[in-house]
Amino acid sequence: MIQPRKPDKKPDIRNFSRNELIAFFASHGMRSFRADQALQWLYARRVQSFEEMTNLAKDARTLLADHFTISRPGVRDVQAAKDGTCKFLFGLDDGNCVESVLIPEKDHYTLCISTQVGCAMGCTFCMTGKTGLIRNLSRAEIIGQVISCQDEATARGDMGLSNIVLMGMGEPLANYSSVVGALRVITNSDWGLKFSTRRVTLSTAGLADRFADLARDTRVRLAVSLNAADNTTRSRLMPVNNKIPIERLIDACARYPLAPRDKITFEYILIKGINDSDKQARQLTKLLRSVRAKINLIPFNPHPDTPFQRPDNAAIEAFQSILIKNNYTAIIRWSKGSDIDAACGQLSGAHRSTVSDGSGDQ
Ligand code: SF4
Repeated sequence: MIQPRKPDKKPDIRNFSRNELIAFFASHGMRSFRADQALQWLYARRVQSFEEMTNLAKDARTLLADHFTISRPGVRDVQAAKDGTCKFLFGLDDGNCVESVLIPEKDHYTLCISTQVGCAMGCTFCMTGKTGLIRNLSRAEIIGQVISCQDEATARGDMGLSNIVLMGMGEPLANYSSVVGALRVITNSDWGLKFSTRRVTLSTAGLADRFADLARDTRVRLAVSLNAADNTTRSRLMPVNNKIPIERLIDACARYPLAPRDKITFEYILIKGINDSDKQARQLTKLLRSVRAKINLIPFNPHPDTPFQRPDNAAIEAFQSILIKNNYTAIIRWSKGSDIDAACGQLSGAHRSTVSDGSGDQ
């Protein structure tokens, strides 16, 4: 049950599900359709105050205003890359910051959003991993990134934002309830943000124990950050592999229920001398045989404090051609936004001003 709060402690209404809002209205003697009206105003019409919800009776608006706020993460900084990629630094209520990246494609924008402040996974090629986990983002903070960046795409006027990837700061499956709650809003086609599930991709470092829950709770696409086909190399790059080794991860992928033409995307960051040899490409083709897979090859984006280097283009293309010869779809993702540190693995939430107590806003 949603309890009345002191004025300065009111929660963001976007942290509550439709069922919770229905129960809230019912507990105050109001009918359930009030919840759907409020959700329409929040997500389809993007109002920023309860006063603007004009088809809600005055007493319903007052009730909402007494219990909730509507907030958005504030834009602290925007950096634009030469290729049109835009990196947004969002300031959160507790002084922490997260980054989202708006990426122009041929005929649409793709938005990469964050799900945690920092990350506990500690991948050795990733700037965010160096921070450690500070806290989970709330459902409202995840949704807020989408709404703010969608407004930015609309203001630009050239093309719409149609694709979302949960591939920014954080491991989405380690913040499961907030992420799934946000995905329900993002993909709801009645009162939500109306993104197609086919255009929303959740990328995980491989928390396979959550795959069954994810398949039950959402239809968004799954991507797995793989980066190596043997346990020694993968554990060196991704400490999570010590807990969930490759065999277990691939077995969970093979059992993941997919729609008829869907595939799991495997991301493979190519790092010079570490995972970019012909032998490792052949190992990868054998490893993925049991899975309906496509592979995104991402040349490593160098950043400060890393010993890793990007392979040269010939090595990248040779790796790709071995995968293609073995009948895999393998696409090289020449990263965008690398001149503003907005490319894969470069997000760090720079300018973080305070560190919270880790209690989050769940
Ligand atoms: S690559 Fe992803 S999972 Fe790994 S440390 Fe970075 S943000 Fe976390």
